[in-house]
Amino acid sequence: MPTIPANLQAVSARIAAASAAAGRPTGAVILLAVSKTWPAAAVRAAAAAGQRAFGENYVQEGAAKVAEVNDPALEWHFIGPLQSNKTRPVAETFHWVHTIDRLRIAQRLSGQRPASLPPLQVCIQVNVSGEASKGGCAPAQAEALATAVAGLPRLRLRGLMAIPEPTTDTVLLRSRFAQLRHLRDHLNTLGLALDTLSMGMSGDLEHAIAEGATLVRIGSAIFGTRMQKENTI
Ligand SMILES: *Cc1c(COP(=O)(O)O)cnc(C)c1O
Repeated sequence: MPTIPANLQAVSARIAAASAAAGRPTGAVILLAVSKTWPAAAVRAAAAAGQRAFGENYVQEGAAKVAEVNDPALEWHFIGPLQSNKTRPVAETFHWVHTIDRLRIAQRLSGQRPASLPPLQVCIQVNVSGEASKGGCAPAQAEALATAVAGLPRLRLRGLMAIPEPTTDTVLLRSRFAQLRHLRDHLNTLGLALDTLSMGMSGDLEHAIAEGATLVRIGSAIFGTRMQKENTI
């Protein structure tokens, strides 16, 4: 895995350039390294190069990797679809969950979060492209869901997350990211104090940062092309 440090540097340079182009301060965008399908050794290689935040999509794979890497300096984000019968290992293992899209999941995570750990940091996933197959709440439901989630004792609502539909239409793509930002701004007028916009991946991070992303989720540009079949996006 000798290319991981170089890839991390290249991605950081893209983030810095996009931030500068958008007139945003350096350090305003967090890099989440999406290590799904890659072994613990890949995480260790990235961590040795200074990477701190890692994202996982699958409950069993992610929980096992967190335990295997066993590095208390790292921060683990769950970014995959979450079924209500699989919330416990996530509540017990991860620092963040980006994919809250219904109250039932949030209630279970709050109830299962161990008292020995700080509150679970969460984002609400919004289906900005309206695709039937995609996770995320409808934009019209986000306000009610956010208000309810903010009241749960063992969760801390940090912001919103979206995965727009794959498209080469950059005007459309930018409008999806902008929609998530507008929704965040609206929720903040209600007093929610959301500081996180989780949007942008390897292929579109520049557009996401131009529209206000505070956290980009980057897999293939750091670790390489995934071989394993994907069933989530
Ligand atoms: C896999 C995945 C990513 C990373 O995608 P890349 O295109 O490899 O950067 C980001 N977010 C989510 C939710 C993912 O499932």
